[in-house]
Amino acid sequence: MIRQATDPEDEPARTSLVAKLVVAVVIAIAILLVWISNLYLTERFTQESRSRAELRLAIYAGNISSELQRTSVVPLLLSRDPALITALNSGDFAATSQRLILIKDEIGAASLMLLDEDGRTVASTDRRMLGTHHRNTTYFVEASRSPDTVFTTETLESGGLQFSYSRKLESGNQGIGVIVVEVGLAKLEQKWAFAAEAIMVTNSEGIVILSSEPRWKHQKVEDALIVENAPSAIERALQVTADWIQSPAEAISLGSAIMRLDGKIGFQGWRMTYFSTFASVRERVNGVLALEIMGFAILVALVFYVLSRRAVQQSNLFQRESIELRALNDRLSQEIEERERVERSLRVAEQSLAQSSKLAALGEMSAAVSHELNQPLAAMKTYLAGAKLLLQRHRPDEALSSFQRIDDLIGRMGAITRQLKSYARKGGDELLPVDLRDVLSAGLTMMEPQLNQMEVKITQSVPRDPVLVLGDQLRLEQVVVNLLRNALDAVKELKEPELDILLSKGEQAKLSVRDNGSGIDDLDQLFEPFYTTKKPGDGVGLGLAISSGIVSDLGGRLIARNGTSSGAVFEIQMPILEEKTEAAE
Ligand code: ADP
Repeated sequence: MIRQATDPEDEPARTSLVAKLVVAVVIAIAILLVWISNLYLTERFTQESRSRAELRLAIYAGNISSELQRTSVVPLLLSRDPALITALNSGDFAATSQRLILIKDEIGAASLMLLDEDGRTVASTDRRMLGTHHRNTTYFVEASRSPDTVFTTETLESGGLQFSYSRKLESGNQGIGVIVVEVGLAKLEQKWAFAAEAIMVTNSEGIVILSSEPRWKHQKVEDALIVENAPSAIERALQVTADWIQSPAEAISLGSAIMRLDGKIGFQGWRMTYFSTFASVRERVNGVLALEIMGFAILVALVFYVLSRRAVQQSNLFQRESIELRALNDRLSQEIEERERVERSLRVAEQSLAQSSKLAALGEMSAAVSHELNQPLAAMKTYLAGAKLLLQRHRPDEALSSFQRIDDLIGRMGAITRQLKSYARKGGDELLPVDLRDVLSAGLTMMEPQLNQMEVKITQSVPRDPVLVLGDQLRLEQVVVNLLRNALDAVKELKEPELDILLSKGEQAKLSVRDNGSGIDDLDQLFEPFYTTKKPGDGVGLGLAISSGIVSDLGGRLIARNGTSSGAVFEIQMPILEEKTEAAE
C-alpha cells in the first residue's frame, strides 16, 4: 500500500518539470521573436525615417531655391517700371512707397527699397527705412557697378543676414537709382525653428548662412557642431524642437541615433545640411515590442493558469486517492482482525477435532483390535472343542496338531498386542548412537526366512563407514522389518521379485527400500492407522503408522513415493550424528 501511494507522488514532480520546460520554451521563443522583430522593425522604420528625411530635405531645398528664383526676376521688372523712373527723375516719391507695398504683396518678397543715386532710401515697403543711407552697402555698390541684377548677402547690425537682389535703374544710360528686393528667406528660417529637425544652409565657402539654430550662423558647419561639450549642438538644437519628442533626454541619450543628410540647393553653390533623429524610430519599435512582450506575458500567464488548474485537479485526485487508500487500509486491517479471529476459533476447533479424532481413532482401533483378536479367539475356541473331542476319542496326535494351531493363533495375537504396545510407547527411553548399517543387517537377518523362501533378488548399497544416528536400535529394527515385510508383500506375486536397499550418508542419513511391485494406491492415507489394502488376517494397517511415529519420535521422517518405472520407495531420513559428538561421547 505504501508503494501504491508513492507512485502518484512522482506526478507533481513530473508536472512541475513540464511546466518549467513550457515556460522556458515560451520565454526563449519570446526573446527570439522580440530580438528578430527589433532588428526587422528598426531596419524598416529607419528606412522609412530616412526616406521621409530625404523628402523633407528636398522640400526645404526646393523652397529656398524657388524663393530665390521667384524673387530674382523682380529687380529687372522694376528697373523698367516707368513710375519708378519718373519718380526718380522728378524727385516726387509721394506715391512710390505705396506702389512698392502693392508690388511686395503681389510678388511675396520680404521687402522692397528704392534708393536714389546717392544710396538714400526714397521709397520703401518699410516706412522706417525712408531716408536711411545705403551708400556703402554691397547691394548698392555692386548694383551701381553692374548692368545686371546682382545677388548680395549683407550682414546687418543685429548680426542677421539679409539676402537681396538689386539692380540699377537707368534713365538715358545713366544710373538714377537702385531697386533692392529682399528675398524672404528669413520666414523660411523661422518656420524651421518649429520643425522637427535641425537645418543649416551654407554658402559656397561653407559658412552657415541660414539655420534653425541662430548660434550656428557665420561659422563653418563642423565648428558650429562642436561649439560646446555634450550635449552636442545638434542635440540641443533638436531639444529646442522638443515638441515632437516626448522625452528630450531620450534624444540626447541616443546621440548615435542622429541622422545627417546633405543636399545641394542649386544656387551659387549653396548646400543644405539636415539633421534628424531616429528617436521616433526607437519609440515606434519599442511600442511594437511592448505589444509583443505583453502578448507573451499574457501567454505565460495563461500557461501558468492552465498548469495551476491541472495541479489543483491533480492534488484533488491525490486527496481522493489517499482517502480511498485509507479506507482500503481500514478495510484490510478489519479483514486481518477478522482473519485472526477466525484463525483463533479455527485453532480451538482443530484442538477439539484432534481430541475427537483421537477418540475416533481409539474407537476405530478398538474395533479393529477386537476384530483382529476375536477371529483367533473364535478359531481357538473351535480348535479347543475339536481337541477336547479328539482326546475323548483317544486320538492324542490329532489333538496335538489342534493345540499347535492354537499356539500359532496365540502367537499371532501376541504380535498384534506387541505392535500396539510399541505404538503406545512413546519417548522416555534414552537415545543412543546407532549405526544404521547394524540396524539394516539385523532387519535383514530377521526377515531372512521369508526372503530365502521367495527367492528375492536383493541389491544392497551400504557405505563402509558407520552411519550414525541418535536412536533406539530395537525400534529402528522394527521400522526396517516393517518396510521389508511390506515390500515382500508387494512383490510376492511377481516372477522376478527385486528389492533395492540403499543406505547413504550426506547431510542426513538416508535408508531407502525400493521394490518392483505395483506401487502405492493411495499416498494420502498410507500412514493412517488401520489403513490397509491387505486381506483380513494379512494386515491390520498399523505397520506404517507405527513406523512413521517411531522415525519422527527420533527426529527424522519416513517418506513414501512411487518409483519412476514401477514399485514403491520408502525412505527413512534421520539427522546424522556428527563424528565429533560421537567421539565426545
Ligand atoms: P499392513 O501391512 O498391515 O497393511 P501397513 O501400515 O504396513 O499395514 O501398510 C499399509 C498399506 O500400505 C498396505 O496395506 C499397502 O496397501 C500399502 N503398502 C505398504 N507398503 C507397500 C509397498 N511396498 N508397496 C505397495 N503398497 C504398500
